[in-house]
Amino acid sequence: MAAVRTEWGAARRLVVKVGSSLLTDPRTGTLNRAWLTSLVEDVAALKAEAREIILVSSGAIALGRKALGLPSGPLRLEENQAAASVGQIALAHAYEEAFKACGLVAAQILLTLGDTEQRRRYLNARSTMETLLGVGAVPVVNENDTVATTEIRYGDNDRLAARVASMMSADCLVLLSDVDGLYTGVPGSDGGAELIGEIKNITPEIEAMAGDTGTELSRGGMVTKIEAARIAVAAGTHMVIASGRHENPLARLGQGAPCSWFLAATNPAASRKRWIAGALEPRGAVVIDDGAAAALKGGKSLLPAGVSAVEGTFERGDAIIIRDGSGAELGRGLSAYSHRDAQTIAGHKSREISELLGYRGRDELIHRDDMALKLSAGRDE
Ligand code: GLU
Repeated sequence: MAAVRTEWGAARRLVVKVGSSLLTDPRTGTLNRAWLTSLVEDVAALKAEAREIILVSSGAIALGRKALGLPSGPLRLEENQAAASVGQIALAHAYEEAFKACGLVAAQILLTLGDTEQRRRYLNARSTMETLLGVGAVPVVNENDTVATTEIRYGDNDRLAARVASMMSADCLVLLSDVDGLYTGVPGSDGGAELIGEIKNITPEIEAMAGDTGTELSRGGMVTKIEAARIAVAAGTHMVIASGRHENPLARLGQGAPCSWFLAATNPAASRKRWIAGALEPRGAVVIDDGAAAALKGGKSLLPAGVSAVEGTFERGDAIIIRDGSGAELGRGLSAYSHRDAQTIAGHKSREISELLGYRGRDELIHRDDMALKLSAGRDE
């Protein structure tokens, strides 16, 4: 066992991806219950250290195909979807029971590609998961295989997990796999193949080492893990590939088990702010009063009460510019309301929102996590 990395100890929010080949017995297609229990115990132990854990779990197709008695070998898309609809029930039930035994509540979240790609749905999925984490539940995520079609699939849970990690600004993404990391060559067949412990840049050499090691049940070989690493590190999330072949895989990782770390050069908050400030086309603007401007500079969210005017045509989740009374840009952020709703609630107290709009939305027009202020405004992070 090697020394435990500081990235592991420092990670407050973790996304853990579990592959089908770990959860199910490849010969019988049945659930590996003892292993699942040990994983859930590890999650409970991490939660006891005040860490937040989101699981991304495969296994629905593997379990469903066994239950439906489908033949081995590649299945057609609709057979996979039928299998997933059966297997997902068993999977969710297994997690519910295992977490209950540890005094925890599991929550099932099934995502389709648009949920992390379209900002409005992204905000919804993000706030639902934030809410679940806030009340101490453990979100268990899978792709909504039953409705996803070929063109709109993540296709593999490595990438899904990376999108979830980026959406949730996770500090660390753990891919539990049947290998313990990235090797310089094919492990076993090449005597000189060595495990790479730390990857700071995903170079063409690193990509070449990935080869393709996908198995029948999981589409994710090393290639999709490298793609996941790209998504994660761009979002400021460190990623680690570790073996899940033994029980208590997260405890083992915490004790320094061999693994490969892909290190992010930035952190999730900074990378999210860069994305908001630079990558999105603003659709409108809000003009705010001096009190609100001072609150923003002090790190607070933008409340409707501080907004004096709303400009442009934007939907919930769109990027908008925040201006002061003189028209100067103070920063940008993702609006929690459309321009129509923003106009209605501008200048009003947050507690009046539900009466004005007929639904209870967020208290903030732009939450501070969804905001990037200009450096000249005194505060960028
Ligand atoms: N979503 C699929 C399932 O639950 C697995 C996809 C993958 O293993 O990458 O069976």
